[in-house]
Amino acid sequence: MNPNANLCLTILSDFERMRNRVVECPNKSLALINIQSLSVVYPGGHRALEGITLEIRRGELTVLLGRSGAGKSTLLRCLNLLQKPTTGTIYVDGVGSLTSLDRLRGYRRQAGMVFQLHHLIGRQSALQNVLVGRLAYHSTIRSLFPLPKADLTVAMECLERVGLADKALKRADQLSGGERQRVGIARALAQRPRIILADEPVASLDPATAESIMELLSRISREDRLTVVFSLHQIELACRYGERIIGLSNGTIVFDGLPDELTSDPLERIYNGTATEECLAAAYLN
Ligand code: ADP
Ligand code: MG
Repeated sequence: MNPNANLCLTILSDFERMRNRVVECPNKSLALINIQSLSVVYPGGHRALEGITLEIRRGELTVLLGRSGAGKSTLLRCLNLLQKPTTGTIYVDGVGSLTSLDRLRGYRRQAGMVFQLHHLIGRQSALQNVLVGRLAYHSTIRSLFPLPKADLTVAMECLERVGLADKALKRADQLSGGERQRVGIARALAQRPRIILADEPVASLDPATAESIMELLSRISREDRLTVVFSLHQIELACRYGERIIGLSNGTIVFDGLPDELTSDPLERIYNGTATEECLAAAYLN
């Protein structure tokens, strides 16, 4: 064989090996995301997360449970690098270690984020808000012009999925709280994500609406076998909808198990001895 061709082949196979090494999760099993020894110290010295080692498994609906200040939002923000860890590593299967900016851009498209307060543009229609989820697929310049028809179709499909096709042209600020959160979910779905990260998605909703949003997220996760991670402080909802519960307290994991295993001892650890009678009763109702 031509020596140059041979050299090319060697370089290519080295590159392939290198790429595989980077992309591989330390434990390949079912892990989509593998987090090792993660810590976050905020400017000013507050240690929000400490020694978090965790696997997020493919297709699983995981709930981060903990009281206010436990580190739930910080951990979720680390999962799409809106927050940079102070130490530790995050590997995403098929992407690699979330360090280089290029990789990060590609990964962010795969991670749809649903926020507590929806983060919608009030003056724009539900449809326009959902189309924002498609922007990651276009260059900055392209996104200044009307998006292709195919994006409109995706956005409409997503609105239909969350039961809001008939409100597509309604302004976001004229929708109810529950409807706005549905638009937030549709926008995340429009990204065609591999994982949905939701930070207290039902915190500002009344109990019946909260229930319907949980139902929707759980159905989408089941139907699409989508990996979903969300934070909650309501034990009862966590036990009812979570397939796995991770309890956080003071920035560390104090419980990682099935809803059925969340008995009074782990609850006391999660709530630092401040779990109310109702909290415990809710857990025992499962
Ligand atoms: P949770 O979502 O469970 O309520 P957070 O992750 O928001 O917890 O916060 C964890 C801890 O980090 C809290 O003590 C909070 O006050 C602190 N914290 C969060 N964000 C910042 C920030 N940007 N700067 C400084 N401290 C922060
Ligand atoms: Mg929070």
